[in-house]
Amino acid sequence: MRLRNITGSREVIAHSPYVVKEEFLEQCPGTWHDIFGNEHPIYIEIGMGKGKFIHTNAKQHPDINYVGIEKYSSVLLRAIQKMEQEELPNLKFIRMDAEDIVKVFGKGEVDKIYLNFSDPWPKDRHAKRRLPSREFLARYDEILKPGSRLEFKTDNRGLFDFAVEELEPAGWKAEVITYDLHADEELLQGNVMTEYEEKFSAMGNAICKYVIYR
Ligand code: SAM
Repeated sequence: MRLRNITGSREVIAHSPYVVKEEFLEQCPGTWHDIFGNEHPIYIEIGMGKGKFIHTNAKQHPDINYVGIEKYSSVLLRAIQKMEQEELPNLKFIRMDAEDIVKVFGKGEVDKIYLNFSDPWPKDRHAKRRLPSREFLARYDEILKPGSRLEFKTDNRGLFDFAVEELEPAGWKAEVITYDLHADEELLQGNVMTEYEEKFSAMGNAICKYVIYR
């Protein structure tokens, strides 16, 4: 998702109390409980887009700390605007490329990772940029607590098949795999829809999901 450059979005982000400042990011590993001021678990969404999923989750679960990560300022701005309308103490944002995620979270500091409707990068030579690729799984392996879960949803069957094939070589196991989340009453319980999920499921696309661990 890339919105048109919105004038002033970088300034809004630089001054927003909801965003961890770029200049402090490298001091963050090992300090996330201090940043939130409690010992609650840390859940992160990588590529959160406009932030509906993470904002809704943070509202529903005040005893969990959430961090939303988004690469583009113009998109992050939308998530900030949601927070301005409804402020939540357990939600923070970071504007960064997830390639650098291990510089921002300490070893085993994260209790859950969400990837939702990640960009497909369809060309083979760009496979390493896909957020569920083995290269990214190796980064998640460093920051995710042992035994904790990563959840991924997408309507893109090609990307999902790729993601499932990456698990074994990367040393991860699937706890759940579904190719039609919205048809599975049990898995659907408590499902929070993302902006893309609303759009693509309304068009009749099946939503794939896995829950993985290692
Ligand atoms: N998760 C949202 C949803 O389901 O509605 C947005 C999905 S959108 C297709 C993918 C988002 O991931 C975009 O906002 C994009 O900027 C962001 N993104 C892609 N690659 C990223 C990366 N390497 N680091 C951080 N964000 C990334």
